Amino acid sequence: MPSPYCKLDTNSPLIYLDNNATTRIAPEVFEAMVPYLTEHYGNPSSAYRFGKQVGEAVKTAREQVAALLNVQPRQIYFTSCGTESDNLAIMSALRVSGKKHAVLTEVEHSANMKLGEWLEDNGYGVTWLRVDGQGRINLDEVAASLREDTGVVSIMWANNETGTLFPVEKIAQMCAEKKILFHTDAVQTPGKIPLDLSESPIDFLSLSGHKLHAPKGVGVLYARRGTKLRPYVMGGGQENGKRGGTENVASIVGLGRAAELAAENLVDEQTRVRALRDKFESTLLETIPGTAVNGDAEHRLPNTSNLRFDGVEAEAILLALDQRGICASAGSACTTGSLEPSHVLTAMGLKPEQARSCVRFSLSHFNTEEEVDTVLEAIPAIIADLRAQSVQPTT
Ligand code: PLP
Repeated sequence: MPSPYCKLDTNSPLIYLDNNATTRIAPEVFEAMVPYLTEHYGNPSSAYRFGKQVGEAVKTAREQVAALLNVQPRQIYFTSCGTESDNLAIMSALRVSGKKHAVLTEVEHSANMKLGEWLEDNGYGVTWLRVDGQGRINLDEVAASLREDTGVVSIMWANNETGTLFPVEKIAQMCAEKKILFHTDAVQTPGKIPLDLSESPIDFLSLSGHKLHAPKGVGVLYARRGTKLRPYVMGGGQENGKRGGTENVASIVGLGRAAELAAENLVDEQTRVRALRDKFESTLLETIPGTAVNGDAEHRLPNTSNLRFDGVEAEAILLALDQRGICASAGSACTTGSLEPSHVLTAMGLKPEQARSCVRFSLSHFNTEEEVDTVLEAIPAIIADLRAQSVQPTT
């Protein structure tokens, strides 16, 4: 009998348009996980059949993730999250190469930004690549940043705030020619763009379960054949000795199933979801003056729309949306009530007050046209109201 937890609540008024923050667990993923949270609780490293069965499930999940990337299962390492995968790849590349310089972009996720800042405080040099007004990097600047002592270049595949895509294959090739290891944070990509690493010069790639309808707290690091990986978390011989700690089996099983679904949903994301996003965006641009899109017009994730509403605080828009059961987020980190302007949007040249007026909407294949229409009806009135309030004289 299917579990009540995996039913979609169709009566719920919630409209979730924040899928770059996290995603709902797909019903198929949940169902695949349940046996490993209940009867199959053996340790995958145990020698008896009750444990070995569980080890088989981890093996299957590794094959499923490998199939998504079109690589060999032994190139897949399970971790605790995208952040750990990013840290593992960058630190391993620096330790294996013995070099003291890293290249990152100014628009990385905090998983990489904070590590870059730590590197700078601990005797490493970091070149932070700039972006232009559409969030793109310049390949000549990438080439100029590669030095004799460069141990790693890490550039995200897709930006989580704007959806801008980076030419990571080209950059990986530039790095390979100079024998520099290349890592990409691909956390935002599965199920949205094709990922085929079979012939790719990319050395390391990070994924995170909760961005592709699997649970939180499980991630993946792919390492290219022949690329050395030095462990960060040391312990038992799990993950071929590269990542100690008893495996988070149920979540790994869920991630394996989610990887299969991501491959199946790619067409829907690239067609139906993209069309919904485009309708959403063009309708708002047409109906609300003083609205602009942040991100690369051409090379962008099909599900992401980051919009600037001039003269209105994103925080106020989000509050009004929340009152209507609509979830979206600011392209900024909210810290104890004060909205810091997003480092991504300010790096793209937006003034702090412009960056504070941006809202990110991110769809998934669970979103429907009715939901988008409901949101399209709500937003113009919200913006008009907030603009009217901001010009009212104070007495
Ligand atoms: N990288 C990107 C681009 C992300 O969007 C995120 C999550 O927001 C992460 C890394 C971190 O992943 P996790 O939450 O699994 O640590």
